[in-house]
Amino acid sequence: MPFEAVIGLEVHAQLKTKTKIFCSCSTGFGAPPNTHVCPVCLGMPGVLPVLNKKVVEFALRMALATGCSIAGVSRFARKNYFYPDLPKGYQISQYELPIAEHGFVDVAVNGGIRRIGITRIHMEEDAGKLVHDPGQPVSRVDFNRTGVPLIEIVSEPDIRSPEEAGAYLRQLRSVVRYLEICDGNLEEGSFRCDANVSIRPRGTQALGTRTELKNLNSFKHVEKALQYEIGRQQELLADGGQVIQQTRLWDADKNQTFAMRGKEQAHDYRYFPDPDLLPLEIDAQWTERIRRELPELPAAKKKRFMDAYALPAYDAGLLTSERELADYYEACLGFFPHPKIVSNWVMGALLGLLHTQGKSIDQSPVSAEGLAQLLQLVEDGVISGKMAKSVFEEMAATGKPAGKIVAEKGLVQISDGQALEAVVEKILADHPEEVVAYRNGKTKLLGFFVGQAMKVTRGKANPKLINEILKQKLE
Ligand code: ADP
Ligand code: MG
Ligand code: ZN
Repeated sequence: MPFEAVIGLEVHAQLKTKTKIFCSCSTGFGAPPNTHVCPVCLGMPGVLPVLNKKVVEFALRMALATGCSIAGVSRFARKNYFYPDLPKGYQISQYELPIAEHGFVDVAVNGGIRRIGITRIHMEEDAGKLVHDPGQPVSRVDFNRTGVPLIEIVSEPDIRSPEEAGAYLRQLRSVVRYLEICDGNLEEGSFRCDANVSIRPRGTQALGTRTELKNLNSFKHVEKALQYEIGRQQELLADGGQVIQQTRLWDADKNQTFAMRGKEQAHDYRYFPDPDLLPLEIDAQWTERIRRELPELPAAKKKRFMDAYALPAYDAGLLTSERELADYYEACLGFFPHPKIVSNWVMGALLGLLHTQGKSIDQSPVSAEGLAQLLQLVEDGVISGKMAKSVFEEMAATGKPAGKIVAEKGLVQISDGQALEAVVEKILADHPEEVVAYRNGKTKLLGFFVGQAMKVTRGKANPKLINEILKQKLE
């Protein structure tokens, strides 16, 4: 391919503060329209905004977690535009002096690590929400979201493929969730992404003309929209045409992007410092305290899981993608210290179960200790791995502990050598032709004999022992 893609993402993360950024209205989601409003967030004349300290603290957490430098003094600015969901006629944001700049996120892609630069992180307020009821001649507006705090995280144009964009976004989402500053919900819009993309001849450095893609409300949509847009730009250039700088909307039903408007320029917004808000001075001691209190972050936890538990990168990455999942895993290990066995069960049976039930790990019907007890029964040879799968399902359905289920169902595996020998002898006596065939070299028949033994014992024979006895008797 003669072209390479150049992608930069702008992510808006809604902060989980109790109150809005410049007033004391609630940020609660799902309340009746226009009940979380006051003169400040409605933009009445004469009111004054007062900055919420928690917003600054959350922005600092993210800035420190992504290796940004923190500005000792930053400023709020007015971004002026007219839209019915913006009652003041301007959005309070940060422009020339954002709170943080020059960070990075390390992202695992294609078995390697790619470092994606973060240009800046700034704080701003959200706009309201327009409600367009189908069949109604009017649109309505809900101002509950007006003034809800956001951070915007702007990446450098360092991303080279839709897949990398997806991996970067997942990583960023994982970080904001670890930091407990944002719930990271793309569908509900608390974590939103605009994607900027251009293409250029491979091996060149100058940036091509970009388009900005909006309306991307899942990771899949981000990847598909970028894929489509890269293809569209390539065709344009290959036909001797030109890419026009514009904002385009992703249409998930048609799988296409459509031109929405010409891309606005910064000067269109007539930015200027907000005279109602003082310059924001950040106390270095406060920053240091926040830094010390940061939790172990996903990348560090992943590395520790690989080093301490000898887990493959894939397992470690998946288990540390959510803090609660990593906690569950380590809690289970505390009771049953076999890292890879626990990893297989958590990634397989447990995540499978949670997925089908649409539950998160904190709602898991099987506790970490409960899972450990089940695995101990397998380890002790009381039940087979196969039985364990059905016991696990029973645990999830009934909440009973593994030991109780095993006892009630009489599932205990037969590991008594003499009993199994009798079983094997009977099977061999019943199938003389197969025995001869086996001894003449058709050793694949071993599976047949094992199957017979399982049938006779209704799955309870210890498979390892049965194999050993069969081989010995068939010699
Ligand atoms: P805005 O979209 O508000 O004008 P910027 O100019 O700062 O803001 O750019 C926003 C995003 O677009 C950044 O993530 C940046 O990396 C990315 N970007 C800028 N130029 C290009 C380009 N030519 N191709 C791809 N991405 C770009
Ligand atoms: Mg933009
Ligand atoms: Zn308010």
